[in-house]
Amino acid sequence: MTPVDLPGPGLWTTSVGSLPKPDYISSGRSRRARGEIDKAELVELERRATREWIEFQDSIGTDVLVDGEQYRGDMVAFFAEALPGLELGGLVRSYGIRYYRKPIATGAVGRDDAVTVEWWQYAQSLTNKPVKGMLTGPYTICDWSFNEHYASRRDFVLDLAKVIRDEALELERAGCRFIQIDEPAASTRMDELDLVIEGMEVVTEPLGAHTITHICYGDFHRAYPKMLDIPVDQIDLEFANSDFSLLDDFAANPFTKYIGLGISDAHSHDVEPVEGLAHGIRRSLEYLLPERTFVDPDCGLKTRSVDEAKGKLSNIAKAVEIVRGEL
Ligand SMILES: [Zn+2]
Repeated sequence: MTPVDLPGPGLWTTSVGSLPKPDYISSGRSRRARGEIDKAELVELERRATREWIEFQDSIGTDVLVDGEQYRGDMVAFFAEALPGLELGGLVRSYGIRYYRKPIATGAVGRDDAVTVEWWQYAQSLTNKPVKGMLTGPYTICDWSFNEHYASRRDFVLDLAKVIRDEALELERAGCRFIQIDEPAASTRMDELDLVIEGMEVVTEPLGAHTITHICYGDFHRAYPKMLDIPVDQIDLEFANSDFSLLDDFAANPFTKYIGLGISDAHSHDVEPVEGLAHGIRRSLEYLLPERTFVDPDCGLKTRSVDEAKGKLSNIAKAVEIVRGEL
């Protein structure tokens, strides 16, 4: 376990990862597709949006910031596009009317250049607070891709793990102190939780940074307490959209790591009132220690509007301030 070198009594605020893109990014992308602007002009818009989100998080007093992933589309495709051995395939339906281009492993997965370091450095240059490095975990990249190369899913995951480890090490060398390796797929297939753990061991073993994983979509109740074996310092989980039912599991088996406590429903348009959010934090603190708790929304907020996301993050910050005052 790494000590979290942050001021105060704990109960820090953060975000899970993605934040919504302002309209000028989507119109910039359409203009780029029509050849009206070049790549550098689009990147300039993405940098502007990154700067605005950093400024917003600073303005509400967020403790550990994210860059908001203004330059990413899908969290797996973003890495697949950058890594040799992976190609983007045709459109596949994920849920409802949402489609994404599913990656295909066509060769051994490798890594030529850093994928996220330059964006992290840019975001970190805009604030004195720590900015999280954001990576997608090897198990999730494997689970959301076709495999035409590897003899087994395990071989695929372990090769991906070395690539993600090298990216994490480069973030760390650049000065990054909080590194999040997202494994949203981790609790979707109980028979492979051991593979999630084995892949994460490869990624985090050489790291000195505070490591985090975010898990969502799955059956937490079945994955708990085994998920505590995932070798990271912190696990970030959804509480709001399950009405805090995981706390019952914590009563039976105490949570042993730092936690990311998701208290605002990322899939709802409602901006939850401050007092309700504060109530959720107080309930959780019956089972969790404030000095090991980071408060955030349930999940990335990229599907919300900019105003909804700002409202949710502001109200979380206000709720945390109230409960901190009561500690
Ligand atoms: Zn999530």
